[in-house]
Amino acid sequence: MHHTALLEQLVSICGSANVLTEGDLSAWEADWRKRARGKALAVVRPGTTEEVAQVVKACAQAGTSLVPQGGNTGLVVGSVPDDSGTQVVLSLQRMNRVRALDAANLTLTAEAGCILQTLQETARQQGLLFPLSLAAEGSCTIGGNLATNAGGTQVLRYGNARELCLGLEVVTAQGEVWEGLSGLRKDNTGYDLRDLFIGSEGTLGVITAATLKLHPLPAARLTAWAAVPGMDEAVALLGLAQRELSASLTGFEVMGQFALSLVAKHFPQQRVPFHEATPYCVLLENSDHESAEHARAMFEQLLEKALDSGLVTDAVVAENIAQAQQLWHVRESIPLAQAEEGLNIKHDISVPISAIPQFVRETDALLAREIPGVRLVNFGHLGDGNLHYNVQAPADSDAQQFLRNQEGQVNDLVYGAVRRFGGSISAEHGVGSLKAGELVHHKSPVALTMMHAIKQALDPQNILNPGRVLQR
Ligand code: ZN
Repeated sequence: MHHTALLEQLVSICGSANVLTEGDLSAWEADWRKRARGKALAVVRPGTTEEVAQVVKACAQAGTSLVPQGGNTGLVVGSVPDDSGTQVVLSLQRMNRVRALDAANLTLTAEAGCILQTLQETARQQGLLFPLSLAAEGSCTIGGNLATNAGGTQVLRYGNARELCLGLEVVTAQGEVWEGLSGLRKDNTGYDLRDLFIGSEGTLGVITAATLKLHPLPAARLTAWAAVPGMDEAVALLGLAQRELSASLTGFEVMGQFALSLVAKHFPQQRVPFHEATPYCVLLENSDHESAEHARAMFEQLLEKALDSGLVTDAVVAENIAQAQQLWHVRESIPLAQAEEGLNIKHDISVPISAIPQFVRETDALLAREIPGVRLVNFGHLGDGNLHYNVQAPADSDAQQFLRNQEGQVNDLVYGAVRRFGGSISAEHGVGSLKAGELVHHKSPVALTMMHAIKQALDPQNILNPGRVLQR
């Protein structure tokens, strides 16, 4: 049958060691959260852009669809094949060369399979900063970061992945190469193709390389942890911190009491400051361009004002890098602690920052009324108006059954509130297949028509990640 012919062709392009069809393929077939397990026709691992182009061309000719994959850390089931056994997983893992670093232009050009952390380190070695930063940075790839327009913990100051990208090299659905690796900061020559591919989740083209924007490395990075009496105060503290620290404020994360209590419960070796005494804690980061002493003085001045005005009830400033890392570790342990506690319903929502307190008040009350005993694991990037507003089954209930019976109801309640507040149902994780069904209820018909028109124009055969982002 034609599958055999295609597989032979793929072997001739990439070599038999890079066309995997048997053995344990779960690393490529199962998603990170273990919500989905597919079956691939093959996992193909090209080593060059030219090989990617040939693989796509061969698959297009055979009418076989492709699922691009980087580190497979995505949270919306977008990087794994369906269970038909007919899709090719196109892994970019082997394309991991840094092609160039231009210090004077503040740019770094790297292949799609480069691990995010490796790029951070490459920049740092030159005294420069690549600011994109998220808990999966040790295994996610820059290609995946751009394909999902990843956010993370430095967006407040440096923007999403989109804002950190100046150019792309892309293999189209026809197997042609678009050379768009310019390091230009200004280029108004028509439609922005780069921005079309960023955030397209592998549905419009395969990103093979990118030119990224670097920043000067701050002289010092300092972290503080503050107890706040409520979400109103947390938002007011954000405003105060922005005024006091201006561009030095690089992180502002909020964590609810129950979220922190789960970290304390499941990781008792971690010290979680203040959580027993306060409904919310905030983690602030100050990246100072003068010195560590200056950073500390700025923080102390800010926190004194905040304590005086009642925005903060208690605060600590990390004494050293190890303490700062411990505080960040607490924040980043919330998803894991939550998983330890049991299955839960995840939301990655955004609303205007000014509306966050009201959104949380109303939605907390709505859920408590409709689903007695429900537990809210609320935390996130408050500086970006982005909350991971997650819902855990009532204590001592069957989490599996809760998910089966109430996931729909919970999503309706939360997403209904998001809509009333003019928010988004996916702030940073993307749509994938997990939210493709929901998306149609949140985009206008005009928007959906334009999105389908773009997909149709660039991938008329529908071979690139079909069914993701847009359902047929
Ligand atoms: Zn996040």
